[in-house]
Amino acid sequence: MARPGAWPPEPAPLPVPVPDNHTHLESDAGDEPRSVERRIADAVAAGIDRMVQVGCDIESARWTAEAVTRHPELLGAVALHPNEAPVHAAGTHASGLGYDEAFAEIAALARAPRIRAIGETGLDYFRTDETGRDAQIAAFRDHIALAKELDLPLQIHDRDAHADVLDVLARDGAPTTTVFHCFSGDAAMARLCVDRGYYLSFAGTVTFKNAHDLRGALAVTPLERVMVETDAPYLTPHPHRGAPNSPALAALTMREIARVAGVALDHACEVVSATTERIYGSW
Ligand SMILES: [Zn+2]
Repeated sequence: MARPGAWPPEPAPLPVPVPDNHTHLESDAGDEPRSVERRIADAVAAGIDRMVQVGCDIESARWTAEAVTRHPELLGAVALHPNEAPVHAAGTHASGLGYDEAFAEIAALARAPRIRAIGETGLDYFRTDETGRDAQIAAFRDHIALAKELDLPLQIHDRDAHADVLDVLARDGAPTTTVFHCFSGDAAMARLCVDRGYYLSFAGTVTFKNAHDLRGALAVTPLERVMVETDAPYLTPHPHRGAPNSPALAALTMREIARVAGVALDHACEVVSATTERIYGSW
C-alpha cells in the first residue's frame, strides 16, 4: 500500500496528446515536492502536452502570469476564486488588498497574451456561508463582464450552487464561451448547459466508483462539448484517490471519458484536443 502522500505511478501515455483544461501547478500536494518542470515533463510523457494553468488568488494569478511566459506547455487563466473574493470584500485578506484593488490587478494580468481565460469564478456554497454570498455573486458578475470585455472564455467554479450559477449566467448573459470546470451536475443539468452552448470539463471525479450521476451527465453531453482536466493537486482519479494529483493523471480521466462516450480512445482524444484549442487558441 502506497503512503497517502506518495506520488502515483505514471499512467500509460495517450495515443493522441490532449490538454489538461484546468490545473494548479503552483500547488504541490506530495510528501516529496516535485518541481513544476518535473510535473510538466511527466504530463507530456503521458500525452498531456498542453495545460491551462489557473491562478485564482492574487498570489497564484501573479505566479501564473509569469509561468506562462516560461513554459510553452502552459496557457493561463486568472480570477479571484469564489472563496477568495468575499475575503477581499471583507477587508481581511492576507495580501492587504481590498476587493476593488484585487480585481483591478486580475483584470490587468488578464490582458497578457498568454492569459487566455477568466477563471475560476462562480459560486461556492460549500466553503463560503451566507455571509459571503452577496460578495460572491458580485464578484462572479464582475468576472463575467471582464470575460466579455476581453472576449475571453470563462471558467466556472460551481460547488453546491447549480441553480444560482445558471441563473446569474442567464441574467447577465454568458460570455461567448463558458466552460464548467470540474462539472458536478447530473444529466438534466448537462442537457441544460449543452442547450445554452456551454462546455463541460470533467475531472477525476468522473472516474470515482460512486459517480453514477456524473457519468450520466457525461453520457448525454456531445463529445464536441467535453474537455478533460485534473484540477491538480486535488481530485486525483481512480485508482489513486487520496494520492497527490498532477496533470499527467488527466490521461486516466481521458480514458474514462472515451469509455463512457463509447468511442475509440484516439478519436476521443482528437476531438477533445481540437475543442480545447478552439476555445483557448493555440499554445
Ligand atoms: Zn481549480
